[in-house]
Amino acid sequence: MNILLDSIFPKYCILCKSLGSNLCEKCKKNLQLTSFESCIVCDRLSVDGVTHLKCKNKFSPDRYISLCYYNQLAREIVLNAKYNQKSYRLFDDFINIHENLVKLNSISTIDIIIPIPMTKSFKKLSDINHAEYIAQKISETIKIPICDALIKTTKISQKRLSKERRHINISGKIKINSDFLPQIKSKSILLVDDVLTTGATMLESSKILKLNGAKNITCLTLTKDEFHNV
Ligand SMILES: [Zn+2]
Ligand SMILES: [Zn+2]
Repeated sequence: MNILLDSIFPKYCILCKSLGSNLCEKCKKNLQLTSFESCIVCDRLSVDGVTHLKCKNKFSPDRYISLCYYNQLAREIVLNAKYNQKSYRLFDDFINIHENLVKLNSISTIDIIIPIPMTKSFKKLSDINHAEYIAQKISETIKIPICDALIKTTKISQKRLSKERRHINISGKIKINSDFLPQIKSKSILLVDDVLTTGATMLESSKILKLNGAKNITCLTLTKDEFHNV
C-alpha cells in the first residue's frame, strides 16, 4: 500500500528535495543532539536539566530536557510538520534517534504525559494539536499514558510576541479540564511541546498544574533554541 501511495504521491526531502522520503538520511545527519541540559528558568547549564535552587519557586518545573538544538534543519522540520505539509510524522525524526530513545527511556518516575495546549484559533486551522501528536509518540515510546488536561484560553498566538509580551499574554490563560483533576493530584508529570522559545507557556502550565496538586513537573521539548532566554 505504501509503495502504491509513494508512486502516486512521491515524497521529496524537505531540505535537499531529493526523491524518496520527507527527510533523507543525508540531511537527517544534520540534526544536532542537545549536548548539555539547562535550567528552564535562567537557561544556564544545569546537570540533568534540574531547575537551579535559586531559580525555583513552588510553581516552577523541576526539570527540563530537550532532544535537539533548533538549528536550520530542526526549524525546517518543525515548520513543515506544523504548517506546510501538516505532516506531523516529521516530528518522529527527532524521537527515532538512538541517543534520544535512550534519553527518553531514562526519564524515570513519570505518571502521565500532558501536551502543551494550543490556542483556539490554531486549533481551528489544524484540528490535531501538534503537541498532542508528539505526546502520543513519546507515550508509545516510554509506555506512559497521556492526559490531555490543559486548555489554553487566549486567542492570541505567542508566535510573534516578544519575550515580555509572551509572559503577559499567557499569564492566567491556561486552565485545567476539571475532569482530569484526580489524574494530576500528587502525580509526576511530563509536559511536552515541539520547541522551547521563551518557555512562557511551559512555566505557566507548570504553575497551574502545581496549583492543582501536581507533585513534580518535567518539561520536554523536541528542540530548543540555544539562547531561548537571551
Ligand atoms: Zn535531504
Ligand atoms: Zn537557573
